[in-house]
Amino acid sequence: MKYVCPICGTEGWKVKKITVGSHVNPEYWHLISDDFHFCPTPECHVVYFNGTVTFTVKEVKTKVFFKEKGSPKPLCYCKQVTEEDVIEAINRGARSVEQVEEMTGIGNGGHCLITNPSGRCCRQFYVEFINRILESVTVGERDDNREVQMADLTKDCCKV
Ligand SMILES: [Zn+2]
Repeated sequence: MKYVCPICGTEGWKVKKITVGSHVNPEYWHLISDDFHFCPTPECHVVYFNGTVTFTVKEVKTKVFFKEKGSPKPLCYCKQVTEEDVIEAINRGARSVEQVEEMTGIGNGGHCLITNPSGRCCRQFYVEFINRILESVTVGERDDNREVQMADLTKDCCKV
């Protein structure tokens, strides 16, 4: 039960104490004694839980990309790149993950364990987001992009 979000019932993934401490408001630091789990459900307001203590978006000072409704929505915390920046790059002509990376500077920060509230490397999330946007604007070019996408998903910017 420890691994299931107490509010939405979704299985969360483990996040290290140092990640939780980096994002939870300092007034709650005394409640962090060990590793937590992260709830990935966009509609759920729980961010971290450990079976006893639960931290919601109100207690977390960092905007959590999964759960953020308004804009700007953060994508890459190491390089401070938002969804809006990615969409702008695509509007300016970027047609691959590489081109978006070049134009926005997204990725390869290497500090996601600390900077990203999910504790995971941002790369899988932004590659997914970029591909989703590209698919909606480049229906005709989709087959050309396919190979690039598969190669991208095997890379990671963090060694954690
Ligand atoms: Zn939840």
